[in-house]
Amino acid sequence: MNNIKICSRCVMDTSAEGIYFNDNSICNYCLEFEKKLNKLKKNNNDIVDLKNKIKLSGQNKEYDCVVGLSGGVDSCFTLHKVFEMGLRPLVVHMDNGWNSELAQNNIENIVKKLNLDLFTYVIDWNEYKNMMNSFFDSDVIDIELLMDNAMLSVNYQQASKNNIKYILAGTNTATEGMAMPNNMNWFKYDKKNILNILKIYGNQKIKSFPIISTIDLIYYILFKKIKWISFLDYFNYNKKESIETLKSQYNFKPYPYKHYESVFTRFYQGYILPKKFKVDKRKLHFSTLIISKQMQRDDALKQLTSQHAYLSDEELQNDKEYFLKKMSWSEEKLQNYLNRPARSHLSYPSEKKFYDIALKFYNFFK
Ligand SMILES: [Zn+2]
Repeated sequence: MNNIKICSRCVMDTSAEGIYFNDNSICNYCLEFEKKLNKLKKNNNDIVDLKNKIKLSGQNKEYDCVVGLSGGVDSCFTLHKVFEMGLRPLVVHMDNGWNSELAQNNIENIVKKLNLDLFTYVIDWNEYKNMMNSFFDSDVIDIELLMDNAMLSVNYQQASKNNIKYILAGTNTATEGMAMPNNMNWFKYDKKNILNILKIYGNQKIKSFPIISTIDLIYYILFKKIKWISFLDYFNYNKKESIETLKSQYNFKPYPYKHYESVFTRFYQGYILPKKFKVDKRKLHFSTLIISKQMQRDDALKQLTSQHAYLSDEELQNDKEYFLKKMSWSEEKLQNYLNRPARSHLSYPSEKKFYDIALKFYNFFK
C-alpha cells in the first residue's frame, strides 16, 4: 500500500477508480468538480423563477412540492428554505428501521415547529432484514442501494399520487458534487439487480418494499412531468452556517460525519466499506468540502489518519454490537463476511447498461 498517490490539492488518492493527475499533481476529480462549482455560481438568481414555477404548478392543490426528509443537515435545511419561501411541501420520510435517535428527534422537531404534514413510509423490518442479508450474501458493495432505491421510489410515488410536479431534494453540488468513483457505490435505479440478488440468495419476493426501476423513472419524468430539483444548488450553500441556523431555530443536533443519521449508514461507511471493500468515503466528502472552501486540507488529512470514521473506538464497538444484535449475526459471521472477497454488481443481472443508453437518448433529444 506504499505506492498510494494523493492529490496535492484535495485528499483523493489512487484508491479511487479512474483517478489521474496533471503536472502539478492535481487530480481529475477536483478539477472537474471545480468546473461544476463555477458553472453553478452564475445561476444563483434563478431561485425566484423556480419559486414562481412551483407555485404556478401547485395552484388549487394541497401541496406544491415534495421534500424528502432524512433528518440530515442537507434535507433539514432544504425544508427550512422551502418553508421560508412560502412553498407548501408534503414532507416524505423513509423508515427502514435504522434511524438514529438523533435523526428521529431532528425530524420531529423541525416538522412540528413548521406545522407540516409528514408522510412516513415504513418498510416491514423483517422483509428489509432479509433483503439486507441477501445483499450481504451476494458480496456486492452497495448495501445502501436498498435504502436509496426505496427513498427515490417513495418520493416519486408520493409526487405522482398527489399530482405534484416538483421534488425538492437536499442533493447538492457544494457538499456532494464531486463525482463518486465507480468503485464506491452502484447505480440506484437497478431494480433488476435487486430482484435477482434477492432471488438467488433468499428466494424472496418483495411485499412492502417500494422498488423503482429505470422504466419507472422514465415514466415519472417524461409522462408525469415530475422534476427532481437539487434545491440547495440555488443558494450559496454552506454546511456550517446551515447547521447554526438549524440549531438555533429547531434545536437541531448535528452529526460528526455526512450521512450519519442512520445507524447502519454509519456502520457501513465507517467500518464495512473500509474493511471489506477498501473504500473510505470520507476522502470524497472531505475533498468536496476542501474544494468548496468549507474545510482545510490539513484538517482532512489529520482526520484521515484515524483508521475508522468514528470519534472513538467505543462508539465503533457500540455500533458493532447494535448491528450484530439487530441483524441476529454472530461476531464470527461478521468476520467471515468481511474476509470474503467482494463481487461486482455486474456479476448479477443489471439494468445499468439500459439506463446508460436511455440517458444518451434523453440528452440527445433534449
Ligand atoms: Zn484533487
